[in-house]
Amino acid sequence: MQILEKAPAKINLSLDVLHKRPDGFHEVEMVMTTVDLADRIQLTLLHEPVVQVESESRFVPNDERNLAYRAAKLIQDRFRVRKGVHIHIEKNIPVAAGLAGGSSDAAAVLRGVNRMWNLGLSMDELAVLGAEIGSDVSFCVYGGTALATGRGEQIQSLPAPPPCWVVLSKPTVGVSTQTVYQNLNLKGAHHPDTDAMVESLKDGDYDGICSHVGNTLEGVTLDLHQEVGQIKEQMKQAGADAVLMSGSGPTVFCLVDQDARAQRIYNSLKGFCTEVYMVRMLGYRETT
Ligand code: ATP
Repeated sequence: MQILEKAPAKINLSLDVLHKRPDGFHEVEMVMTTVDLADRIQLTLLHEPVVQVESESRFVPNDERNLAYRAAKLIQDRFRVRKGVHIHIEKNIPVAAGLAGGSSDAAAVLRGVNRMWNLGLSMDELAVLGAEIGSDVSFCVYGGTALATGRGEQIQSLPAPPPCWVVLSKPTVGVSTQTVYQNLNLKGAHHPDTDAMVESLKDGDYDGICSHVGNTLEGVTLDLHQEVGQIKEQMKQAGADAVLMSGSGPTVFCLVDQDARAQRIYNSLKGFCTEVYMVRMLGYRETT
C-alpha cells in the first residue's frame, strides 16, 4: 500500500515577536500562507514496526534527525502501532531557508500515516501532536492561510490571499534560527501590524496585504547577511508589489499581481542568485 502527500512550503506574510517566555520560547504572532512549491512524500506500508526515511538531498539527514522520521515515530509509539512505514522525500523546497520545509514534511507524514494506519485522528489532534515536533508543524498540518500565535502552534484559519505570483530567492548563506533569535533586540526591532494584515486578508484586499507585510526578524538577518538586503533591493527595483524575508531567512519573497512583471523579476534575479522560484500563491487548504 502506498500513499502520496504533498508538503507545500510556507511564507510569512507577517511575523511579530512579542516577548521571550519563561519556558524559553518566544511568543509570536505570524500570518502564514502556503505557496505552490512542494516536497512530495511517498509512504509505503511496512508490516514490521520500523520507520525508514530516504531523500536524495545531501542537506537532509536520512535518520532519526529527520523531522519526517520523528513524525512517524511519534505516532507509532504514542498509539502502539505494530506496522511500519518507508518514507521517501522528493525534496523541492530549499533546506534551512525559512520556508518550513522540514516542518511541512513532518506534517505530511502525520496526515499520511494517520490514513495508512487507519488511526482516525482529526486534523486538530494531528496539529497538537505536530507541536511536539516543532512550532511550525501545527500550521503545516492544515496548510492554507492562518494566524499562528503562542509559540506558533495555536492556529486560526484565515481566507486565502487573492491570487498572485510569489517570486522566492534564497541566497547561498546559512542562517541559524537560534542565532537570529539570540541577536534580536525586541525594543529596537520593527513590529508589523498583525491586525491590519488579518483585516486585509478578510477583506481580500491585495494592496492592504502588500502594505502590511513585515517581519521582526528581518533586521537581524539583514545585519548578518548583506546578500538578503541586495535581493530585497533587486526585487523592489524590478517592480515587486511587496518584498519580505520569510521566517528567520535567508529566503526573500515578493508578491506580484501581473504575469509579465513577475517574469521580469524572476529573470532579473536569475543572473544574481542560483536558487530562484516563480510560483503561484496557494493560500487554501489542499486535500490529497
Ligand atoms: P522553519 O521555516 O520552520 O524555521 P526552515 O525552512 O528554516 O524551517 P528546514 O528546511 O525545515 O528549515 O531545515 C532546518 C534543519 O532541519 C536543516 O538543518 C535540516 O538538516 C533539518 N531537517 C530535518 N528533517 C528535515 C526535512 N525533512 N527537510 C528539511 N530539513 C530537515
